[in-house]
Amino acid sequence: MKSVSARKAQLLARQAALEARLESIDDELKTHNDPDWDDQAAKREGDEVLEGVGVNGQQELLQIKAALERIESGSYGNCARCGDQISQDRLDLLPATPFCRDCAA
Ligand SMILES: [Zn+2]
Repeated sequence: MKSVSARKAQLLARQAALEARLESIDDELKTHNDPDWDDQAAKREGDEVLEGVGVNGQQELLQIKAALERIESGSYGNCARCGDQISQDRLDLLPATPFCRDCAA
């Protein structure tokens, strides 16, 4: 079983990676406003993909922040809905998840 501090390190690393990723997406979207980019259809399509990645990333960041808060308050690892312990296997895959397998289904 991983310690809470190991989980916290994992979450902080993921948070830093996501923030760097979102920043590069922002930069990428800005370069698309360059008038030299003349293939409008390809531009729009590319932007939609980037924005989709951005939205998912933002949501994951919020989840990670909430998980870090639960670590601070001592409730991390318990399902936010039913209160059961979330399995270690599940936390290995989804360290920021607030729900046990049953409640997330
Ligand atoms: Zn649950």
